[in-house]
Amino acid sequence: MERQSFNTPKTYIWEVIWLTALIAAGLAATSFLSWISVGILAFCTLSAFLFFDWRFSPLGILSPQVSPENIIGTMKKEDTREENTLEEDITPKHLILMAHYDSAPVSLLYLPSMVKNFRSSLFINLFLIVFALLISIMGVLNLGEPLVSWLRWILALYFLIQGLITSFDYLRYGYTNGACDNATGTAAAMVTARRLWDKPVPGIKVSLVLTGAEETGMNGSKYYFTNKNFSFENTFVLNFDSLGKGDLKIITKTGSISTITYKNKLVAAAIMTARNDKKFNCVETASWHTGDFDTIWFARAGIPCLTLTAQDKEGAIQNLHRPEDVIENIDESLTGFTIDFAESLVRRL
Ligand SMILES: [Zn+2]
Repeated sequence: MERQSFNTPKTYIWEVIWLTALIAAGLAATSFLSWISVGILAFCTLSAFLFFDWRFSPLGILSPQVSPENIIGTMKKEDTREENTLEEDITPKHLILMAHYDSAPVSLLYLPSMVKNFRSSLFINLFLIVFALLISIMGVLNLGEPLVSWLRWILALYFLIQGLITSFDYLRYGYTNGACDNATGTAAAMVTARRLWDKPVPGIKVSLVLTGAEETGMNGSKYYFTNKNFSFENTFVLNFDSLGKGDLKIITKTGSISTITYKNKLVAAAIMTARNDKKFNCVETASWHTGDFDTIWFARAGIPCLTLTAQDKEGAIQNLHRPEDVIENIDESLTGFTIDFAESLVRRL
Protein backbone atom coordinates (compact mmCIF):
# COMPACT_ATOMS: atom_id res chain seq x y z
CA MET A 1 0.00 0.00 0.00
CA GLU A 2 1.22 3.44 -0.90
CA ARG A 3 0.04 6.85 0.31
CA GLN A 4 0.30 9.87 -1.91
CA SER A 5 -0.10 13.24 -0.22
CA PHE A 6 -0.89 16.48 -2.06
CA ASN A 7 -2.18 20.02 -1.49
CA THR A 8 -5.66 21.14 -2.46
CA PRO A 9 -8.24 23.81 -1.55
CA LYS A 10 -10.30 22.73 1.49
CA THR A 11 -13.59 22.76 -0.44
CA TYR A 12 -14.95 24.18 -3.68
CA ILE A 13 -17.22 26.36 -1.49
CA TRP A 14 -14.31 28.73 -0.73
CA GLU A 15 -13.65 29.12 -4.44
CA VAL A 16 -17.30 30.05 -5.03
CA ILE A 17 -17.22 32.47 -2.05
CA TRP A 18 -14.11 34.16 -3.48
CA LEU A 19 -15.63 34.30 -6.94
CA THR A 20 -18.96 35.80 -5.90
CA ALA A 21 -17.38 38.20 -3.38
CA LEU A 22 -14.85 39.48 -5.95
CA ILE A 23 -17.56 39.98 -8.58
CA ALA A 24 -19.76 41.88 -6.09
CA ALA A 25 -16.80 43.98 -4.89
CA GLY A 26 -15.64 44.69 -8.45
CA LEU A 27 -19.15 45.85 -9.44
CA ALA A 28 -19.71 47.91 -6.30
CA ALA A 29 -16.34 49.66 -6.52
CA THR A 30 -16.34 50.46 -10.25
CA SER A 31 -16.87 54.20 -9.71
CA PHE A 32 -13.71 54.66 -7.63
CA LEU A 33 -11.50 51.71 -8.66
CA SER A 34 -12.21 52.34 -12.34
CA TRP A 35 -10.09 50.02 -14.57
CA ILE A 36 -8.91 48.03 -11.55
CA SER A 37 -12.53 46.91 -11.14
CA VAL A 38 -12.64 45.89 -14.77
CA GLY A 39 -9.44 43.90 -14.16
CA ILE A 40 -11.01 42.14 -11.16
CA LEU A 41 -14.09 41.24 -13.21
CA ALA A 42 -11.98 40.02 -16.13
CA PHE A 43 -10.07 37.80 -13.67
CA CYS A 44 -13.42 36.50 -12.31
CA THR A 45 -14.77 35.78 -15.80
CA LEU A 46 -11.69 33.78 -16.79
CA SER A 47 -11.59 31.95 -13.44
CA ALA A 48 -15.29 31.06 -13.59
CA PHE A 49 -15.00 29.50 -17.06
CA LEU A 50 -11.92 27.51 -16.03
CA PHE A 51 -13.40 26.47 -12.68
CA PHE A 52 -16.76 25.27 -14.05
CA ASP A 53 -15.07 23.44 -16.91
CA TRP A 54 -13.14 21.57 -14.19
CA ARG A 55 -9.74 22.97 -15.15
CA PHE A 56 -7.05 24.71 -13.10
CA SER A 57 -8.45 28.00 -11.83
CA PRO A 58 -6.49 30.64 -9.85
CA LEU A 59 -9.41 30.75 -7.36
CA GLY A 60 -8.01 27.57 -5.82
CA ILE A 61 -4.87 29.38 -4.68
CA LEU A 62 -6.95 31.95 -2.76
CA SER A 63 -8.78 29.25 -0.76
CA PRO A 64 -7.60 27.68 2.52
CA GLN A 65 -5.47 24.60 1.76
CA VAL A 66 -5.39 21.06 3.18
CA SER A 67 -3.19 18.00 2.48
CA PRO A 68 -5.29 14.89 1.89
CA GLU A 69 -3.98 11.58 0.57
CA ASN A 70 -4.62 9.12 -2.23
CA ILE A 71 -4.37 5.51 -1.07
CA ILE A 72 -3.00 3.06 -3.61
CA GLY A 73 -3.15 -0.70 -3.25
CA THR A 74 -1.63 -3.27 -5.59
CA MET A 75 -1.58 -7.04 -5.93
CA LYS A 76 0.84 -8.97 -3.72
CA LYS A 77 3.89 -10.36 -5.60
CA GLU A 78 2.76 -14.01 -5.50
CA ASP A 79 -0.56 -13.05 -7.13
CA THR A 80 1.19 -11.67 -10.19
CA ARG A 81 3.26 -14.79 -10.95
CA GLU A 82 0.71 -16.28 -13.31
CA GLU A 83 0.48 -13.03 -15.20
CA ASN A 84 4.28 -12.71 -15.62
CA THR A 85 4.47 -15.93 -17.61
CA LEU A 86 2.08 -14.37 -20.11
CA GLU A 87 4.08 -11.20 -20.50
CA GLU A 88 6.13 -12.47 -23.42
CA ASP A 89 3.26 -12.96 -25.84
CA ILE A 90 0.74 -10.35 -24.65
CA THR A 91 1.41 -6.95 -23.05
CA PRO A 92 -0.39 -7.14 -19.70
CA LYS A 93 -3.29 -4.79 -19.13
CA HIS A 94 -3.36 -2.58 -16.07
CA LEU A 95 -6.77 -2.04 -14.52
CA ILE A 96 -7.18 0.74 -11.98
CA LEU A 97 -10.24 0.44 -9.76
CA MET A 98 -10.95 3.92 -8.45
CA ALA A 99 -13.27 5.59 -5.94
CA HIS A 100 -13.08 8.79 -3.92
CA TYR A 101 -13.39 8.52 -0.16
CA ASP A 102 -13.85 12.21 0.73
CA SER A 103 -17.33 13.57 1.32
CA ALA A 104 -18.81 16.84 0.08
CA PRO A 105 -19.79 20.04 1.86
CA VAL A 106 -23.57 20.26 2.32
CA SER A 107 -24.95 22.87 -0.08
CA LEU A 108 -28.34 24.32 -0.99
CA LEU A 109 -27.16 24.12 -4.60
CA TYR A 110 -27.93 20.42 -4.40
CA LEU A 111 -31.58 20.72 -3.36
CA PRO A 112 -33.41 18.50 -5.87
CA SER A 113 -35.16 21.55 -7.38
CA MET A 114 -31.76 23.21 -7.98
CA VAL A 115 -29.98 20.09 -9.31
CA LYS A 116 -32.60 19.60 -12.01
CA ASN A 117 -31.55 22.89 -13.61
CA PHE A 118 -27.87 22.71 -12.72
CA ARG A 119 -26.45 23.08 -16.22
CA SER A 120 -28.91 25.77 -17.40
CA SER A 121 -28.46 27.82 -14.22
CA LEU A 122 -24.68 27.46 -14.63
CA PHE A 123 -24.94 28.89 -18.16
CA ILE A 124 -27.17 31.76 -16.93
CA ASN A 125 -24.64 32.58 -14.20
CA LEU A 126 -21.71 32.48 -16.64
CA PHE A 127 -23.65 34.81 -18.94
CA LEU A 128 -24.28 37.16 -15.99
CA ILE A 129 -20.55 37.18 -15.11
CA VAL A 130 -19.71 38.25 -18.67
CA PHE A 131 -22.55 40.81 -18.44
CA ALA A 132 -21.08 42.11 -15.15
CA LEU A 133 -17.73 42.64 -16.92
CA LEU A 134 -19.42 44.59 -19.74
CA ILE A 135 -21.42 46.67 -17.24
CA SER A 136 -18.26 47.61 -15.33
CA ILE A 137 -16.55 48.68 -18.58
CA MET A 138 -19.60 50.83 -19.41
CA GLY A 139 -19.46 52.23 -15.87
CA VAL A 140 -15.81 53.29 -16.27
CA LEU A 141 -16.58 54.85 -19.66
CA ASN A 142 -19.64 56.63 -18.15
CA LEU A 143 -21.98 55.10 -20.72
CA GLY A 144 -25.71 54.53 -20.19
CA GLU A 145 -25.98 56.26 -16.80
CA PRO A 146 -27.89 56.07 -14.50
CA LEU A 147 -29.18 52.66 -15.72
CA VAL A 148 -25.69 51.12 -15.69
CA SER A 149 -25.14 52.13 -12.06
CA TRP A 150 -28.44 50.54 -11.07
CA LEU A 151 -27.55 47.35 -12.93
CA ARG A 152 -24.17 47.26 -11.19
CA TRP A 153 -25.80 47.33 -7.75
CA ILE A 154 -28.49 44.80 -8.67
CA LEU A 155 -25.87 42.39 -10.07
CA ALA A 156 -23.59 42.88 -7.04
CA LEU A 157 -26.48 41.95 -4.76
CA TYR A 158 -27.39 38.98 -6.98
CA PHE A 159 -23.86 37.53 -6.76
CA LEU A 160 -23.72 38.07 -2.99
CA ILE A 161 -26.95 36.07 -2.70
CA GLN A 162 -25.52 33.33 -4.96
CA GLY A 163 -22.45 33.09 -2.70
CA LEU A 164 -24.72 32.87 0.34
CA ILE A 165 -26.92 30.14 -1.23
CA THR A 166 -23.83 28.06 -2.06
CA SER A 167 -22.17 28.39 1.35
CA PHE A 168 -25.09 28.71 3.83
CA ASP A 169 -25.58 24.98 4.49
CA TYR A 170 -21.83 24.32 4.55
CA LEU A 171 -21.41 26.95 7.27
CA ARG A 172 -24.36 25.39 9.19
CA TYR A 173 -23.76 21.66 8.67
CA GLY A 174 -20.21 21.22 7.38
CA TYR A 175 -19.76 18.01 5.40
CA THR A 176 -22.20 15.24 4.49
CA ASN A 177 -21.97 11.83 6.11
CA GLY A 178 -21.16 10.50 2.62
CA ALA A 179 -22.81 7.09 2.93
CA CYS A 180 -23.83 7.09 -0.73
CA ASP A 181 -21.27 9.61 -2.02
CA ASN A 182 -18.95 7.87 -1.68
CA ALA A 183 -18.74 5.09 0.93
CA THR A 184 -20.71 2.90 -1.49
CA GLY A 185 -18.24 3.54 -4.33
CA THR A 186 -15.24 2.96 -2.05
CA ALA A 187 -16.74 -0.35 -0.84
CA ALA A 188 -17.52 -1.43 -4.42
CA ALA A 189 -13.98 -0.63 -5.63
CA MET A 190 -12.40 -2.45 -2.67
CA VAL A 191 -14.51 -5.60 -2.96
CA THR A 192 -14.08 -5.73 -6.76
CA ALA A 193 -10.31 -5.46 -6.25
CA ARG A 194 -10.37 -8.20 -3.61
CA ARG A 195 -12.27 -10.52 -5.95
CA LEU A 196 -9.91 -9.83 -8.87
CA TRP A 197 -6.85 -10.33 -6.66
CA ASP A 198 -8.23 -13.59 -5.27
CA LYS A 199 -9.21 -14.88 -8.70
CA PRO A 200 -7.05 -12.94 -11.18
CA VAL A 201 -7.93 -12.53 -14.84
CA PRO A 202 -4.85 -13.72 -16.77
CA GLY A 203 -3.01 -10.77 -18.28
CA ILE A 204 -4.69 -8.11 -16.12
CA LYS A 205 -2.87 -6.43 -13.27
CA VAL A 206 -5.28 -4.75 -10.86
CA SER A 207 -4.60 -1.67 -8.71
CA LEU A 208 -6.93 -0.01 -6.27
CA VAL A 209 -6.76 3.78 -6.07
CA LEU A 210 -8.84 5.53 -3.40
CA THR A 211 -8.71 9.25 -4.00
CA GLY A 212 -9.10 12.24 -1.71
CA ALA A 213 -10.37 15.68 -2.72
CA GLU A 214 -12.75 14.59 -5.47
CA GLU A 215 -15.24 17.08 -4.12
CA THR A 216 -12.83 19.99 -4.60
CA GLY A 217 -12.63 19.52 -8.36
CA MET A 218 -11.39 15.91 -8.76
CA ASN A 219 -8.01 17.00 -7.37
CA GLY A 220 -6.97 13.62 -5.91
CA SER A 221 -7.32 11.76 -9.18
CA LYS A 222 -5.73 14.71 -10.99
CA TYR A 223 -2.69 14.41 -8.71
CA TYR A 224 -2.54 10.67 -9.27
CA PHE A 225 -2.88 11.21 -13.02
CA THR A 226 -0.12 13.86 -13.26
CA ASN A 227 2.32 12.24 -10.80
CA LYS A 228 2.32 8.74 -12.21
CA ASN A 229 5.59 6.82 -12.20
CA PHE A 230 4.48 4.55 -15.04
CA SER A 231 2.98 5.04 -18.49
CA PHE A 232 -0.76 4.70 -18.92
CA GLU A 233 -0.28 2.49 -21.96
CA ASN A 234 -2.73 -0.42 -21.87
CA THR A 235 -4.33 1.07 -18.75
CA PHE A 236 -8.04 1.08 -17.96
CA VAL A 237 -9.71 3.08 -15.20
CA LEU A 238 -12.96 1.86 -13.68
CA ASN A 239 -14.40 4.39 -11.26
CA PHE A 240 -17.22 3.90 -8.76
CA ASP A 241 -19.21 6.86 -7.52
CA SER A 242 -22.47 7.13 -5.56
CA LEU A 243 -24.09 3.72 -5.71
CA GLY A 244 -26.61 4.19 -2.91
CA LYS A 245 -30.01 4.06 -4.54
CA GLY A 246 -31.73 3.87 -7.92
CA ASP A 247 -30.55 2.11 -11.07
CA LEU A 248 -26.97 1.32 -12.02
CA LYS A 249 -25.75 3.41 -14.98
CA ILE A 250 -22.85 3.25 -17.41
CA ILE A 251 -21.87 6.91 -17.79
CA THR A 252 -21.11 7.82 -21.39
CA LYS A 253 -21.26 11.64 -21.20
CA THR A 254 -20.14 14.17 -18.58
CA GLY A 255 -18.98 17.79 -18.48
CA SER A 256 -20.61 21.00 -17.33
CA ILE A 257 -19.38 23.53 -19.91
CA SER A 258 -17.66 21.35 -22.51
CA THR A 259 -19.00 17.82 -22.97
CA ILE A 260 -16.78 14.77 -22.45
CA THR A 261 -17.81 11.61 -24.29
CA TYR A 262 -16.81 8.16 -23.04
CA LYS A 263 -16.41 5.78 -25.94
CA ASN A 264 -13.73 3.15 -25.34
CA LYS A 265 -13.03 -0.56 -24.76
CA LEU A 266 -14.10 -0.43 -21.12
CA VAL A 267 -17.43 1.23 -21.95
CA ALA A 268 -17.92 -1.31 -24.75
CA ALA A 269 -17.25 -4.18 -22.32
CA ALA A 270 -19.79 -2.69 -19.89
CA ILE A 271 -22.45 -2.31 -22.59
CA MET A 272 -21.81 -5.87 -23.80
CA THR A 273 -22.14 -7.18 -20.24
CA ALA A 274 -25.45 -5.36 -19.80
CA ARG A 275 -26.75 -6.63 -23.15
CA ASN A 276 -25.62 -10.23 -23.00
CA ASP A 277 -26.07 -11.16 -19.38
CA LYS A 278 -29.73 -11.44 -18.31
CA LYS A 279 -28.89 -10.49 -14.76
CA PHE A 280 -27.55 -7.12 -15.95
CA ASN A 281 -30.14 -6.27 -18.64
CA CYS A 282 -31.45 -3.41 -16.48
CA VAL A 283 -28.10 -1.56 -16.60
CA GLU A 284 -28.30 1.33 -19.08
CA THR A 285 -26.10 4.13 -20.34
CA ALA A 286 -26.65 7.65 -18.97
CA SER A 287 -25.08 11.09 -18.80
CA TRP A 288 -24.15 13.34 -15.88
CA HIS A 289 -23.59 17.09 -16.04
CA THR A 290 -23.89 18.18 -12.38
CA GLY A 291 -20.23 18.29 -11.46
CA ASP A 292 -17.99 15.51 -12.77
CA PHE A 293 -16.18 12.30 -11.87
CA ASP A 294 -12.58 11.25 -11.08
CA THR A 295 -12.29 9.73 -14.57
CA ILE A 296 -12.29 13.21 -16.19
CA TRP A 297 -8.47 13.51 -16.54
CA PHE A 298 -8.15 10.03 -18.03
CA ALA A 299 -11.04 10.65 -20.44
CA ARG A 300 -9.49 13.93 -21.62
CA ALA A 301 -6.16 12.14 -22.17
CA GLY A 302 -7.85 9.38 -24.20
CA ILE A 303 -7.20 6.62 -21.62
CA PRO A 304 -10.06 4.09 -21.63
CA CYS A 305 -12.12 4.78 -18.52
CA LEU A 306 -15.62 4.48 -17.18
CA THR A 307 -17.64 5.63 -14.18
CA LEU A 308 -20.40 3.50 -12.72
CA THR A 309 -23.02 5.39 -10.72
CA ALA A 310 -26.68 5.02 -9.74
CA GLN A 311 -29.45 7.42 -10.71
CA ASP A 312 -33.14 7.71 -9.90
CA LYS A 313 -35.87 7.89 -12.55
CA GLU A 314 -35.18 11.62 -13.07
CA GLY A 315 -31.49 10.97 -13.70
CA ALA A 316 -30.43 12.40 -10.33
CA ILE A 317 -28.15 10.93 -7.66
CA GLN A 318 -30.32 10.72 -4.56
CA ASN A 319 -29.48 12.88 -1.52
CA LEU A 320 -26.35 14.12 -3.27
CA HIS A 321 -24.46 16.62 -1.09
CA ARG A 322 -27.39 16.85 1.34
CA PRO A 323 -27.64 15.96 5.07
CA GLU A 324 -29.89 12.99 4.11
CA ASP A 325 -26.88 11.15 2.61
CA VAL A 326 -26.75 8.62 5.48
CA ILE A 327 -26.65 4.82 5.68
CA GLU A 328 -30.42 4.55 6.35
CA ASN A 329 -31.01 5.79 2.81
CA ILE A 330 -28.74 3.21 1.16
CA ASP A 331 -29.89 0.17 -0.75
CA GLU A 332 -27.06 -2.25 0.04
CA SER A 333 -28.11 -4.75 -2.62
CA LEU A 334 -27.31 -2.14 -5.29
CA THR A 335 -23.67 -1.95 -4.14
CA GLY A 336 -23.46 -5.76 -4.31
CA PHE A 337 -25.05 -5.75 -7.75
CA THR A 338 -22.49 -3.17 -8.94
CA ILE A 339 -19.60 -5.33 -7.71
CA ASP A 340 -20.98 -8.33 -9.64
CA PHE A 341 -21.40 -6.16 -12.72
CA ALA A 342 -17.89 -4.71 -12.44
CA GLU A 343 -16.32 -8.13 -12.00
CA SER A 344 -18.08 -9.56 -15.02
CA LEU A 345 -17.25 -6.62 -17.25
CA VAL A 346 -13.57 -6.88 -16.31
CA ARG A 347 -13.61 -10.58 -17.18
CA ARG A 348 -14.90 -9.50 -20.62
CA LEU A 349 -11.99 -7.10 -21.30
ZN1 LIG B 1 -18.88 11.57 -5.52
